[in-house]
Amino acid sequence: MKIPFLDLTAQYQSIRGEITAEIDKVIAANAFAGGAFVDRFEEAFARYCQCEHAVGVGSGTEALWMALLGCGIKPGDEVITTPSTFIATAEAISLCAATPVFIDIDEDSGNMDPNLLAAAITPKTRAVIPVHLYGQTADMGPILDIARRNNLIVVEDACQAHGAEHGEKRAGSMGDAGCFSFYPGKNLGAFGEAGAVVTSNAALAEKLRMFRDHGQRAKYFHAMIGWNARMDGVQGAVLSVKLNYLEKWTAARRKNASLYNAMLAGLEEVETPKEAEGNRHVYHIYAVRVDNRDRLMSFLAEQGVSCGIHYPTPVHLQEAYAFLGHKKGSFPRAEKHAETVLSLPMYPELSEPQICYVAETIRAFFRGKRQRLKTHLEKKAPGAEVCQPRISSDAGVA
Ligand SMILES: *Cc1c(COP(=O)(O)O)cnc(C)c1O
Repeated sequence: MKIPFLDLTAQYQSIRGEITAEIDKVIAANAFAGGAFVDRFEEAFARYCQCEHAVGVGSGTEALWMALLGCGIKPGDEVITTPSTFIATAEAISLCAATPVFIDIDEDSGNMDPNLLAAAITPKTRAVIPVHLYGQTADMGPILDIARRNNLIVVEDACQAHGAEHGEKRAGSMGDAGCFSFYPGKNLGAFGEAGAVVTSNAALAEKLRMFRDHGQRAKYFHAMIGWNARMDGVQGAVLSVKLNYLEKWTAARRKNASLYNAMLAGLEEVETPKEAEGNRHVYHIYAVRVDNRDRLMSFLAEQGVSCGIHYPTPVHLQEAYAFLGHKKGSFPRAEKHAETVLSLPMYPELSEPQICYVAETIRAFFRGKRQRLKTHLEKKAPGAEVCQPRISSDAGVA
């Protein structure tokens, strides 16, 4: 059996007719850059995110950068975030000439640990970016509380968390702004690059609409220095069609996650993801944690199962951020996370037999490992007591 990490073709096949009809309309209307198809998507997506406004832009990275600029982040400011994220979160801060300040993560969720937030605040701190890693919202209660008490802006990096919920609240609606990516592999994926900022702050939305269109207030009247960050019309049309299916796809992802959880249950070497109480995790990524990550990943690849690592190097150890002076050991939990995390195949169209095959292959890997250990120990010291609990843990594993 061959199981890809992601299968975009399966999804396309299921909605092909609708998509091509909409793209045809964009072409007929010559509505290529911004325009009515983008407007329509923005309205629907804002509603979906429980926000007043959505501003479509060119990518999730652009959404983060523009949200920070729009919230007034200036050179020399400090912005607190997590090192366990895609580098774009930190890049957006750096592109404002501000400084990313990292705090370590909560081990269970991989998200920013709010207990470390207050201590990282200095007189230069202006904002905090919680990242809803893998599709589960960060612990927003204490984060919003501390931010409010310290006058900090909160920009949510919801690039992996379309439709995720924290209590009654949708991802992106809790901070001053929420940033989304519609990169093709994301839960809501465009046919190219796209992103959006959502907010219920009308003045911020207005500023972002101007900024993404060269600071234009009216045609050729430029009120501010902006940028070209318009969303393509084709992407607006594709995303409008796909948004209608997002809840169904999210339900399928959640079902797949619970199948994985059930099929991997009791395997002591594998830690399955935990959904915090009151959260709706949307499983952009289904990541397990294992000690022998690289060997397990190669074994799975040999058996036809493609996995991913999100992410192999935490941002504070990236060469690009060497100038911040962090070292190995600066954020031990984020570093351990990067060493042990393994993303299993996850997409709505994944079938139960496929999930079963992945889980059984993982079980076979650890069974083989235990068997090799047992043989090794018996050769060295027949019946070695000390390791018995580890090597006899096959109960319920077959
Ligand atoms: C995908 C992603 C981004 C960047 O989005 P792009 O659309 O690729 O620019 C930022 N942050 C996180 C957490 C992401 O997963």
